[in-house]
Amino acid sequence: MHAFRDVDYDRYTITKEYDPEVETVRQRDMIERAASLAKEREEKLGRRMSACVVTFGCQMNARDSEKISGVLISSGIELVDDENADIVIYNTCTVRDNANQRVYGRLGNLGVMKKKHPDKKIVLCGCMVQEAAVIEKIRQTYPFVDMIFGTHNIYKFPELLVRLLEEDGMIVDVWKKTDSVVENLPTLRKYPFKSGVNIMFGCDNFCSYCIVPYVRGRERSRKSSEILEEVRRLADSGVSEVMLLGQNVNSYGRGLEGELNFPGLLREVEKTEGIRRIRFMTSHPKDLSDELIEVMAESSKICSHLHLPVQSGSSRVLEMMNRKYTRESYLKLVSKLRAAMPELSITTDIIVGFPGEEPADIDETVSLVHEAAYDNAFTFIYSKRAGTPASNYESKMSEEEIGEGFNRVLAAVQEEARKNVSRFAGRTMEVLVEDVNDKDKEYVTGRLSGNVLVHFKGDASLIGSYLQVKLCENKGFYYIGERV
Ligand code: SF4
Repeated sequence: MHAFRDVDYDRYTITKEYDPEVETVRQRDMIERAASLAKEREEKLGRRMSACVVTFGCQMNARDSEKISGVLISSGIELVDDENADIVIYNTCTVRDNANQRVYGRLGNLGVMKKKHPDKKIVLCGCMVQEAAVIEKIRQTYPFVDMIFGTHNIYKFPELLVRLLEEDGMIVDVWKKTDSVVENLPTLRKYPFKSGVNIMFGCDNFCSYCIVPYVRGRERSRKSSEILEEVRRLADSGVSEVMLLGQNVNSYGRGLEGELNFPGLLREVEKTEGIRRIRFMTSHPKDLSDELIEVMAESSKICSHLHLPVQSGSSRVLEMMNRKYTRESYLKLVSKLRAAMPELSITTDIIVGFPGEEPADIDETVSLVHEAAYDNAFTFIYSKRAGTPASNYESKMSEEEIGEGFNRVLAAVQEEARKNVSRFAGRTMEVLVEDVNDKDKEYVTGRLSGNVLVHFKGDASLIGSYLQVKLCENKGFYYIGERV
């Protein structure tokens, strides 16, 4: 790390045109500074400093928390699960209004803790703080928060950590947008055998219910050379399963001249020695190409699972949602996928109670769930998100009608899941063991290529191994199996 000391940082101001490579060096040096500040604090406390990172929301946030955790560990700070820690970081989600309310509630508790321990540092980051109104509310109501930073400058976390350890008063560093992607900062991996890899950031789709494009910014793809290098490094360190992450992976590479498209990127990732399973999410149906289906069907590493959010089975509602496909085109896509990959597990997301939706639209969603034959689906009741176009639409259904519709969709999802997941019953299939079962320590939990969970007798020594397991008992969304 000492080689980085030769760089004259004062020559570089961070602007939109900064050089990401210089920035990487600068942030790595900041980690050294944070480490020496943490050491000083450790000497005063007589113990290591501790930090607790709490993640709300989606896979992208989980990945960001791994980056934050990687910087903390590299700075000599111990990661703990307890919010009594010296530093507490809430990596927030803002997809639903009630997600914000949950954070405010928990912040109140942290404030009480901070009264007793004034040296405690409280940090808020993630999507929620990308909104000016949220920052204002925190300034007014939660002035004890020490730092707020957004989604666009997370790469600057080493520098922000130095400021957190050096400065008093609330530090606010939230950017409206960024065009750059800074590479090669340390990151913590929750599992040694599998890892998420961001391939792009942001979203250009503007679904009418979704706040993501406003808080995560326009779509930006990473260079394929950087992604492939990261996958190679992960494979060298023992990772065998990668999950390529983006809000809309199917449009990977758009706008980057001479860059691979998503199927091209998958072909290259497939060549990485040591990688046995490749997953990706999320796929927007409107951008899923024939070429991608071809690459998936030919691949021996791409998992036999596709998460393809439909949101509604009614073309009328899909139009109001600005999803840019119809019920018919979605189902046609599902048929194509099934024709090319008869074993494929398809899962989805469904929203019930979108403003303007009527009971007849829900009937269409129920029938689509049966036609698409999903292995599983995440079903949500629509929740108004301030700042999105749909928040101005009027609901045509009562709460009872929405609840009744939700139950009908859920029943259809459960019926299909049980039926479709049962196609594996009695078969012996490869399972990647992920963890000791949290309910019964004599069991471990693993995943089929098709993403279905399997629990079977075993212990922690099996974690990370690929084993042949007989699928004995179908429990609906998962199996109880026996190692063979
Ligand atoms: S594709 Fe739609 S739902 Fe997904 S992140 Fe983009 S705007 Fe939101």
